[in-house]
Amino acid sequence: MASEQADSTLVPATGTNDAGSGAMGGMVHCTTCGQKMAGTAPACPKCGAPNTGAAARTSEKTMVAAALLCFFFGSFGFHRFYVGKIGTGILMLVTLGALGIWTLIDLIMIIVGSFKDRDGLPLKR
Ligand SMILES: [Zn+2]
Repeated sequence: MASEQADSTLVPATGTNDAGSGAMGGMVHCTTCGQKMAGTAPACPKCGAPNTGAAARTSEKTMVAAALLCFFFGSFGFHRFYVGKIGTGILMLVTLGALGIWTLIDLIMIIVGSFKDRDGLPLKR
């Protein structure tokens, strides 16, 4: 039961932090209609055209640095602080990376290239 309670507190905190800080990303203009939208938006909110700029952008943070931080200090959330995910980084710190499981999942995601920074951009290879 204890682990279920931990999970339920974990989810809303993650969503709030990442969604809120995501607005800090750069704004781009739709190539089809010129509508201003978030650089991380997958598609234009006005005309629905795919945001071609979003796919090409990568984070300033590197995959190698994130992987090393995750490997050595992952249970303290260092790799999440590194990519700007402060909220979930603190959460990871106090739960010791959900006793290592969350850290292991993050490490795998970093290595396979699925780990994103706070703006939702993939890490630089
Ligand atoms: Zn558009």
